[in-house]
Amino acid sequence: MGVIVTPGGFALPGTATAFKTGTWRIERPTHVHGVAPCHGACLAGEDPQAWIDRLARGDAEEAWRILVAANPLPASTGRVCPHPCESACNRGGYDQALNIHGLERFLGDAALARDWAYPVTSPPPDAPRVAIVGAGPAGLSCAWQLLRRGIQPVLLEALNQAGGIPRTAIPPYRLPRAVLDGEITRLLATGIECRFHERLGRDFSLEELEAEYAAVFLAVGTQKSRPFSVEGAVPRDLHYGLDLLRHWLAEGAVPAWDEVAIIGGGNTAVDVARILRRAGVRAVHLITHERIPARDVPEHERMRAAPDEIAQAVEEGVIIHENRMVRRLILRGERVVGVELVHARKLREGERLRLHAFEGTESVLKVEQVIPAIGQVVDEAGLEKLLGQREFLRIDEEGRLAAGSRLFAGGDCRPGLGTVAGAIADGARAAAAIARLLGRAEAASARGPVVGPSRLNLHYFDHAPRQEASVVPVAQRHGDREVQEGLEAAAAAAEAARCFSCGNCMACDNCFTLCPDNAVLKTVTPAADGSHYVFDYDYCKGCGLCAHECPVGYITMVAEE
Ligand SMILES: Cc1cc2nc3c(=O)[nH]c(=O)nc-3n(C[C@H](O)[C@H](O)[C@H](O)COP(=O)(O)OP(=O)(O)OC[C@H]3O[C@@H](n4cnc5c(N)ncnc54)[C@H](O)[C@@H]3O)c2cc1C
Ligand code: SF4
Ligand code: SF4
Repeated sequence: MGVIVTPGGFALPGTATAFKTGTWRIERPTHVHGVAPCHGACLAGEDPQAWIDRLARGDAEEAWRILVAANPLPASTGRVCPHPCESACNRGGYDQALNIHGLERFLGDAALARDWAYPVTSPPPDAPRVAIVGAGPAGLSCAWQLLRRGIQPVLLEALNQAGGIPRTAIPPYRLPRAVLDGEITRLLATGIECRFHERLGRDFSLEELEAEYAAVFLAVGTQKSRPFSVEGAVPRDLHYGLDLLRHWLAEGAVPAWDEVAIIGGGNTAVDVARILRRAGVRAVHLITHERIPARDVPEHERMRAAPDEIAQAVEEGVIIHENRMVRRLILRGERVVGVELVHARKLREGERLRLHAFEGTESVLKVEQVIPAIGQVVDEAGLEKLLGQREFLRIDEEGRLAAGSRLFAGGDCRPGLGTVAGAIADGARAAAAIARLLGRAEAASARGPVVGPSRLNLHYFDHAPRQEASVVPVAQRHGDREVQEGLEAAAAAAEAARCFSCGNCMACDNCFTLCPDNAVLKTVTPAADGSHYVFDYDYCKGCGLCAHECPVGYITMVAEE
């Protein structure tokens, strides 16, 4: 080819491209979309990195569209989700984790304010029809995901409104009803058929649904409080926490008590405690064998309610008795006048955890009412055959009740700790399985490895404080006023800009500018992998500089065959 090689000297001008230095390579750089830790940890199955990236680029509406593809209720989850995504966020080890739930709420609220259209088209009239029993988060999510796949969902709801527990029990000072109503009304208007006052076990049976519909998703939640007694004693006039919340939300009033003991450490217990304080109950004691969450408290000992809620309850005057259980009810006739408490703690016994009471640590608390909030179970009406003696419905990893069956279930009615976002994920999983059952095959998306902090090059990121929205001061927390405020637009933009974009190209040009061989080419339109860069393997010597300098861990060196 007429090229003159000059050992020890220089290549002649204009001859550099003739040397295919790529032949020297023993490792090649490749783009690998990693799973950001927030994505791996999101209870609803969202990929926060993907929508935060759009928000950081200034396209909030597109960010919302990406977000609702997984979770159709972001204004609600952005308020009530315990956000484990943030505990997993790589930025937590650098300065402070991203305020992911704050951004989620920001986008959800922006969609409500600006009436952004849910990205979906109605299924054709001859589309298969799938029945969904229960219009709580799990049912709504399943309906949305079926609709996105061209399948007609039909929601059958016992009450006169959709929303499930977020509507009937989560207090409006945490989840304003204008937000919940707005989000659900807009979602149902996308083409989801919803029939109210239709109760399984009263108005229709499972057999009828199976005969009429292509598949059935059971999303009935847990509507019955777990029965309470201490050594067989059950006080007269017992009020369960969930019933009190429902009553308070429906009637706006609770009995006029002075001193009460709530038993439990979950969401229901903390919510009841806070509404009783708002209703004027002087002394609200919360008794739990668990502990207030803190860094040094092991996971299995922590109260299950969200740490922020617990902290706010304490600010509002709720007295939490950690590591305590009720040993005895002190009754006068059939009425409670006090409780005997004993120190208690969950301890490991081999593989299992067992609750131990410590003798000699008893104390007495004078109260006029005990309020159990010790969990809920599935109401068996209409589900007797499926439940048998169990409290929950058993499902497989696709959400199916039995192999080969067209019956699916998810959300709180299956065993496990229930959250709104978890119910949304269950609804989506069942919808995907139903779509497969109906022959609508979907290409499984390959998930790369979770990108931990060691895969990032943190030298390229500045330190920046986390943007927090303000919290209403205790003295102003009255009635339904929302306690946690939202992020302003400028704060949301600043927060989105803090994201490390873990495992996914942020188009910073580092590989392009730093490659010593000009072997990284920049594309005008996105390349097949979605980035704006391709490697020119004819000239890449495999030095690995691009992989080393990539801030986000998107480039992996792979051995040549
Ligand atoms: C007081 C309280 C506070 C909570 N706080 C939080 C929180 O802050 N964050 C969080 O993530 N999670 C929270 N949770 C948990 C969360 O609300 C649930 O995990 C979630 O609502 C479960 O959704 P789901 O759709 O499975 O059931 P549900 O929300 O219970 O919805 C079930 C729906 O099915 C309907 N239904 C029931 N039986 C029938 C029937 N036979 N026929 C027809 N319809 C029927 C019901 O009316 C209801 O609309 C809280 C729970 C409680 C009780
Ligand atoms: S749904 Fe919950 S876990 Fe998922 S991104 Fe939102 S706040 Fe985080
Ligand atoms: S830095 Fe961004 S992509 Fe990485 S875990 Fe946190 S929110 Fe997710």
